[in-house]
Amino acid sequence: MPRESLLRAPVVGAGLGIVSEGAVHRGEAGASGELAHIQVDTSSTSVCRCGRRGCLETFVSGGAFEATANRGEVWWNSPYLKEIHDDVGHISMDDVFSGIAQGDQQCVKIAADAGIRLAGVLAVLATIYNPAKS
Ligand SMILES: [Zn+2]
Repeated sequence: MPRESLLRAPVVGAGLGIVSEGAVHRGEAGASGELAHIQVDTSSTSVCRCGRRGCLETFVSGGAFEATANRGEVWWNSPYLKEIHDDVGHISMDDVFSGIAQGDQQCVKIAADAGIRLAGVLAVLATIYNPAKS
């Protein structure tokens, strides 16, 4: 992807805050909790803004929602997305979020598929962190 496209791409990453023993764990240079570039699918053809393929961000970010919604097989199967595509020529991540709020099945599926990917990563992290019940 040319650099200009990367700069214009809607980017909403994937990260979390880690609290350990009552304090925020910031890590080196404050980058603790960065989940975006954990590779979750080596067979993915989606190129991440970091240049690799299969990063979590390419599945769960707002940019990923937008990219998925703009695939013909997705918008074609949603009257809501098809209307936006036909009127504007491009579906934004905000359109997808609005579709989720309105219960559009394709938009809800985009979010549900992202949730499955995110849950897989969070399950691994929880297992590694091994938190106690309180
Ligand atoms: Zn990446």
